[in-house]
Amino acid sequence: MKPRVHGGGSTAASRQGEMEKHEAPAEAVSNALTIDFEDWYQGLTSSSRRPQDWARFERRIQNAGTWLLDKLAQHRVRATFFIVGEVAREHPELVRRIAAQGHTIGMHGDMHQRVDSMNRAEFAADIRANIAAIEKASGVVPRCFRAPCFSVGKLTPWLWEELAIAGVSVDSSVFPVRSLLYGMPEAPPTPYVVETRYGAVTEVPVTTVPMMGTNLPFSGGFYFRALPYRAVAFATRRLNARGQGVVFYFHPWEFDPDHPRPDSTTRREALSHYGFLSTAGQKFIQLLKQFKFSTVLSGSSLVGSE
Ligand SMILES: [Zn+2]
Repeated sequence: MKPRVHGGGSTAASRQGEMEKHEAPAEAVSNALTIDFEDWYQGLTSSSRRPQDWARFERRIQNAGTWLLDKLAQHRVRATFFIVGEVAREHPELVRRIAAQGHTIGMHGDMHQRVDSMNRAEFAADIRANIAAIEKASGVVPRCFRAPCFSVGKLTPWLWEELAIAGVSVDSSVFPVRSLLYGMPEAPPTPYVVETRYGAVTEVPVTTVPMMGTNLPFSGGFYFRALPYRAVAFATRRLNARGQGVVFYFHPWEFDPDHPRPDSTTRREALSHYGFLSTAGQKFIQLLKQFKFSTVLSGSSLVGSE
């Protein structure tokens, strides 16, 4: 059975109509900061992707993650952390600190494998292992999920049903763009509710900005790093002025510019993973200072009245 979808496009259209009458002050709108909590080698998408290769890589998330948590504490910002199961098993103290600082805890795949590379039963097992790892480390049962590499789409029609069965109420795996590795360009660009026979899941897509007839990404990863800060701030202000919060996404390794580069690194990864790392930390801090943030679960401008 195909899940029913409501919200999203129509909400965006009606919201836009309202906004033309009453422009919200940008500072009244909360944006959501999300962190895909993975170590640098797990974030390599075309080389060194296999877990059996991971043993030989230097662990750096302890330092990169601590830097990130310190900055969030310093600027009193709460975020949503999507945590890889293997990271929770190797560094349970980091997961406990994330929880202690009041951040929302979610999942990012047990071994950071693409969801569209699994069948339904494999995904069901993966998400259970991910929940168990996080619960063992911190005592928290995660209720939100982001697929590694936004790897959901036509191959994963069972995604929302499996999330609902696992008790997940918020998903942020949809990136409404067309890209080489991911993207659902036909998906609504703003949050919407997917009703399944096992319960409802609120889908919170990563934010894009409509420009030149298409949805342009700007709010995280390579796009955030490559764009000048003023372009990111401009797009954020523009959406906030319409009452829409922006969902940003970052990875700890983006703030660790000296992390190793294996010989197997492809030319595309040299740019998408290693490009523009040196200024990412400074731009991230500017963003924390300039805009208002909440977690995905508490961001009222993101998920309606919650
Ligand atoms: Zn990831």
